[in-house]
Amino acid sequence: MAQGIPGQIIDEIRQRCDMAGLVGQYLALEKRGKYMVGLCPFHNEKTPSFTVTPEKQLFYCFGCGASGNVFNFIMRMENLTFPEAVRLLARQTGVTIPGPRAAGSKDSRLRERIYDLNLLAARFYADRLWNNPAGKKAAAYLLERGINKETGEIFSLGYAPSGWQNLINYAQEKGISSDFLLQAGLASPRQGGGCYDRFRDRLIFPIFNIGGKVAGFGARAMEAGEKSGPKYLNSPETPVFEKGTFLYGLNLAREHIRRMKTVIVTEGYTDVITAYQAGIKNVVASLGTALTPAQGKLMRSQAEKVIIAYDADSAGESATWRGLKILQDSGCLVEVADLPEGSDPDGLIRQRGAACFEETIAQARPLAGYRLEILKRNYDPASEESRLRFLEGALLMLRDISNLVERDIYLKQVAEALAVSEGAVRRELMRQQKRQRSGSDHNLLVKDQTKINQVKTSPAEKILLSLMLQSEEASGMVLDALEPGDFQEEPVRQVVETILKLKNEGRPAGGGELIDHFMDERIHGIITAATTDPSLQGLEPGKLVRMTRDCIERINREKLARQQELRQRVLKEKDKKKQYDDHAKKLLQEQLRVIKLLKGAPHCSGGGEKLHG
Ligand SMILES: [Zn+2]
Repeated sequence: MAQGIPGQIIDEIRQRCDMAGLVGQYLALEKRGKYMVGLCPFHNEKTPSFTVTPEKQLFYCFGCGASGNVFNFIMRMENLTFPEAVRLLARQTGVTIPGPRAAGSKDSRLRERIYDLNLLAARFYADRLWNNPAGKKAAAYLLERGINKETGEIFSLGYAPSGWQNLINYAQEKGISSDFLLQAGLASPRQGGGCYDRFRDRLIFPIFNIGGKVAGFGARAMEAGEKSGPKYLNSPETPVFEKGTFLYGLNLAREHIRRMKTVIVTEGYTDVITAYQAGIKNVVASLGTALTPAQGKLMRSQAEKVIIAYDADSAGESATWRGLKILQDSGCLVEVADLPEGSDPDGLIRQRGAACFEETIAQARPLAGYRLEILKRNYDPASEESRLRFLEGALLMLRDISNLVERDIYLKQVAEALAVSEGAVRRELMRQQKRQRSGSDHNLLVKDQTKINQVKTSPAEKILLSLMLQSEEASGMVLDALEPGDFQEEPVRQVVETILKLKNEGRPAGGGELIDHFMDERIHGIITAATTDPSLQGLEPGKLVRMTRDCIERINREKLARQQELRQRVLKEKDKKKQYDDHAKKLLQEQLRVIKLLKGAPHCSGGGEKLHG
C-alpha cells in the first residue's frame, strides 16, 4: 500500500488532519448545514457541487464524482502518489514516519532533492544580489524600477553573476555534483563534455509552486544583445518544473485571491512584484499570454473571477484569445482590463499610481464585450471585406457564450454594428452551430465518460454498506449474519471484505480509513457516498437495527433466489435428458423447501421503512 509506512501511522496522520482546513487552502468553502460546499477543483463548474463532510473527513463532488479522504484530495490537487501524499501530510501534521524507507520512493526522493538544490541556488543568487559587488548593477536596476529591497526579498529575487562556473563551483563546495545541477536545470551541457551555469549575468526570479517550494527560475538578461541570449530565460522542464502548470506569484497571492474571490493575471514578473508592493496582492503572472488548461484549473480552484491585465499590445493577439477561451471553459468568469495603449501594469502603477491601475481593473469588461470592442475598433463599415471579417469574428465570439441571455445581448450589439436585423445574425449563428454539431460532439463524450465512472450497486447492498459505515452495531450484525461473498456487487464485496479484515486486526474501519485500501476511484466514490449518505445519518437506534435486519434479509433472499435459479436450470437440463436420478430428486426437494421458506419469511421491506437507492 504505502511502501512500508505502517497502517497505524497512516491512521494517525489522517486523524490529525482537518479536511475542511486542508481543502480550504485550495478553494473557498462555505458552511451549509453539516457540510462545507465550494466549487470543485477537479471539474469545471459555476455552481458549487463540491462538498466536504468535516465530521467524516471526506469530500465528494456531486458534479464529477470525485471523492475520497485527505490523502486522495492532496494526491489529486498536488499530483502526488499515495506515499508522497502521506509524507506531505505527515510533515504538515508533525507525525514522524519511522523506518529506513521514510525517504520515499526514488521519484519523490529525487524531487525533494531538486527542491532542496533549487532553494540552495535561490539563496546563492539572493546573496549575490544584495551582499556582493557583482550584484550592484542588478540591485540598482530594481531600485530604478521602484522595487525596494524588502519587496525583493519577499519575492526571493536574486542575481546570477556573469562567468561560467559560479553556481557550479559553489555547489561543488557543498558536495553537489554538476551532473545533478544539470538534472535540475541549473546548468547546461557543454559540447564535448562538462557543463556551465545556465543563468549568467541575469536577474533571477525564483518560481514557487503553490506549496511555497522553489520549482524553477525565470531570469532576465541584464545586458541586451545577441551575446546575452534571449531577454528572458526560464528553467527547462525538470521533474519538479512542468511548463504551463505554474502561475508566478501564486504562493504569495493565494490567500488574497481566495479572500477577494478574484485573481488579476498579468504577463510579467515585475507586474506582479510592483502591484504587490503597491498593496494590490491578488496578482499572478501567467508567464506567457497563452494560458494552459492546467493554469485555468489552478485559477478556477482559487477564484471565481479572473481579470486579465495583459499589456495592451498582446491583449488582442490570437494566442491570448485561445488562452482566455480556455479560462472561460474551465468555468471562470473572465474579464479583460483595457490598459492604455503601450502600457503594462508595472509601468502603469509606476507612472500613474496604484489607484489608476485599480481603476482600470474595476472597469474591466466581460470577455465577450471586450472581444466585441476590439472587433469594432478594427471595423470599417465601408469595406465589404471588413464587414465579413467582423461578422466572422462576432459569430465566433457569440458561439463562445454559453449563457443564452448574455448571448442575446451581444447578438443585438453585433446586429446594430453591422446595421442588419437580429434575425439575420441569429440565423447565421445557428447555421454555424449546426455545422459544428455534425462534427465531433465533445459534450456527448463527456457525458458518456461520467456514466462509465458510476458503478451500479444494488440498493440493499448499498444501504447495508452505508449502515455498516455509520454504525458499529449495524456493522457487527452484518458481519455476524453475512459473508463478504454474499454481496453480489464486486466493489461492495471488496469493501466489506476489507472492513472484516481491518476489524480482525483491531484497526478502525471507517470510510476515511477504508479508502486508502483501494486504488479504484469508483470505489472511493462508493465508500464516500456510503459514509456520508445524509438520509441515513442520526437514525434512531431501533430503526437502524430494523433497517439493517431488513437489508440482511433481502440479501439472503436474493442469495436463495439465485441458488434456486441455478437448481432450476440443472433440473431443466436433466428433464431434457430424462435423467430422473437421485441428484435430481435431491434438487427438487431442496427447491420445494426453499419455496416454502421464502413464502414463510416476512417481506424484507415489510418493516415500513422506505428503502431507497
Ligand atoms: Zn467535481
